[in-house]
Amino acid sequence: MRVITMAQQYVQGPGALCALSKYMKALGVGSQPLVIADSVALETVGDSLKQGLGDLKPRRLESFRGEMSREALSHYTKEVARETGADVVVGVGGGRVLDLARAVGYQTKRPYVMVPTCVSTNAATSSVSCINDASGLIEEVLHLRTPDLVVVDSQIIAEAPARLLLAGMGDSLSTKIEVESCSGSRATTEAGGVPTLTGELCARWAYETILSDGESAKLAVETKLVVPALENVIEAINVLSGVGWMSGGCALVHAIENGLKSLPDTHAFFHGEKVAWAILADLIFEERSAESLQRLMEFYYRVGLPLTAANLGIADSTREKPYSAALSACTQKTCKGLLACMPMEIHPRELADALSMADVLGQKFVKDHAT
Ligand SMILES: [Zn+2]
Repeated sequence: MRVITMAQQYVQGPGALCALSKYMKALGVGSQPLVIADSVALETVGDSLKQGLGDLKPRRLESFRGEMSREALSHYTKEVARETGADVVVGVGGGRVLDLARAVGYQTKRPYVMVPTCVSTNAATSSVSCINDASGLIEEVLHLRTPDLVVVDSQIIAEAPARLLLAGMGDSLSTKIEVESCSGSRATTEAGGVPTLTGELCARWAYETILSDGESAKLAVETKLVVPALENVIEAINVLSGVGWMSGGCALVHAIENGLKSLPDTHAFFHGEKVAWAILADLIFEERSAESLQRLMEFYYRVGLPLTAANLGIADSTREKPYSAALSACTQKTCKGLLACMPMEIHPRELADALSMADVLGQKFVKDHAT
């Protein structure tokens, strides 16, 4: 069966947040929202959010900081269902807040609206929320449904740190690689079917858009400018990559990322930064073409995505840490489904060698280009 899933409506552009109520009313998704907003994001987007809510009467505006934990989910689920009487849930902020708002809306059977204030992952338009433990490691992945509305204010994205956009690019570049892996094995996708043409094309177009417009988009964010290249990259991350992985598949790259996450050295780095480096190891492991590896390394070098283990804080480059990450990728409960999508068996020793080789090639690339 081919199953394709996406958000009911996606809106993107400068000033989009200020028109939030207009889009919510047009879709009829509710008029008395519970707004869960990241406390830091609220400091910068608070005025736009207030304007955007317009004559909607929030039943509650909650400033949130912390992990998307079982406790937070239970707390807000009770607030919506029993106390506020809100008829729609709006999440404003980064991944954790959006994951929380999505799960609260799903569990209380309310529509939900996502307002990402950065694009550091390709998850804003997705149907997935992650529950984390106190240290931020994934405890459980919840498979829910896609949002009713996603509103992305590109001016806000342009004013967020460039490193967040780079992480989003890294996360989204993986989609093409993983969809290709899934197509080889006819794996079951997040949408619940076999990999689709739509997923494959979206993933490919996300990849090409990021490689062609990514550098300009990064420069635009560094100068807080909204230009077509930035709009293209935001759309590539949120929509093309989002539809790509949900309807095309997710595989080894994200398992490697989970493995890297088990190394304390990498905790200061974003998901998308680890995904970016994991792509290099995956290409080596799967014996993909040398040209595709070279093309990515050139792009990483130009924009500042990680090329070496040291770029992810993995200080000593002995074989021990790559093996530890590879073993974790092969044995973690949350990786089982990802590994099952691969067309070949994955053994920790071979995967560890691919990680070490990615480091060796990355170091050589940096050395060759340093002069
Ligand atoms: Zn990801």
